[in-house]
Amino acid sequence: MLKQALKILSKIEENGFKAYIVGGFVRDYVLGINSNDVDIATNATPKDIMNIFKFSVLPKEEYGSVTLFIKNDRFEITTFRKEIKYINNRKPIEIEYIDSLLEDLKRRDFKMNTLCMDKYGQILDPLDGKKDIEKKIINTVGSSDYKFSQDSLRILRAIRFATILNFSLSNEVKSAIIKNKYLLKSLSYSRKKQELDKIFSSSNAKYGVSLLLELGLDYDLELYNLKDINLNNDIIGTWASLSMSEKYEQEFKSSEKNLIKEVKEIMKIGITNYSLYKYGLYVNQIVANMKGIDKSFVVGIYEGLPIHSKKEINISTLEILSILNKKAGAYLKDIYNDLEIAILELKLENNKERIKEYILKNY
Ligand code: ATP
Ligand code: MG
Repeated sequence: MLKQALKILSKIEENGFKAYIVGGFVRDYVLGINSNDVDIATNATPKDIMNIFKFSVLPKEEYGSVTLFIKNDRFEITTFRKEIKYINNRKPIEIEYIDSLLEDLKRRDFKMNTLCMDKYGQILDPLDGKKDIEKKIINTVGSSDYKFSQDSLRILRAIRFATILNFSLSNEVKSAIIKNKYLLKSLSYSRKKQELDKIFSSSNAKYGVSLLLELGLDYDLELYNLKDINLNNDIIGTWASLSMSEKYEQEFKSSEKNLIKEVKEIMKIGITNYSLYKYGLYVNQIVANMKGIDKSFVVGIYEGLPIHSKKEINISTLEILSILNKKAGAYLKDIYNDLEIAILELKLENNKERIKEYILKNY
């Protein structure tokens, strides 16, 4: 990955431009963490880049950057620019390209994200980001109040990086977050959900949640019971434990919404033969994890279920019709529903003779 990235830098430079790896990749490299996501900053414009890499380039919807895919690796190439002005907190109004790496670094969010690497693999650190990485602390580039007031997404990025990297936030960062957190209200729910997903699915999520609570961001994020969050190794379980503004709803796929509903239902009724039969093993295992119940215990109940679907009920419609000496009708469905519950509740054995006796007695 690094080798490939350095090759890309060389290729851009052969064409008369400057290019550096910046941001997360270099930060993670210094921390000894592998990353598959390389950000490259250059004074070449997106058009220049498209000319240099004719076949593997896809224009990005966001202005001023192109993405290069080589096998499974992703290289995002962005032209040096000044601070972007946003409308609605996010959409850039205008982008002003510039020719200076240093100016480009100054518009970035955090000092730890300003490290660069040149085509020789040498690290450049004009804004002193390495010191922060060593001290495991997050500082903004310049005034924190200014940075967060310009773009409230940075507030969540700060918490996300602190969580994933187990870094602390400087006092200036904390105060500026508190001062500007009201701006999160107008950040899109999609961005909020994206960042929260990353925070909640980190193995260090507990720390992330404690930061959100300490800074009072739960209120501005419209998460109503964050302090009761049940951090689950399945993110669906985590979300199911939260109550939040309904505006988050559209950010979930319909299958996810369904799972969340089922988790909530099983949390209420408990893990039983019925819950396992009706909702299946997967979602019951999520609930088991939330309740601190051993997974293998749930698998055991599931495997011991007398039936796993109506099809396994040991009697056919024809057989029922012949016992009752009746024509087919909607009543058959009621009989099957009844049999299903009686068998699941172990009141009736799933055995043809027993079922026949049961039907004769009850219908
Ligand atoms: P990762 O890729 O691990 O999520 P990253 O630091 O690379 O982390 P990206 O979103 O890929 O984050 O952004 C690349 C770089 O662009 C960042 O390191 C930072 O320097 C800059 N950046 C990204 N988003 C912002 C922002 N909202 N405000 C200022 N600078 C930003
Ligand atoms: Mg990145």
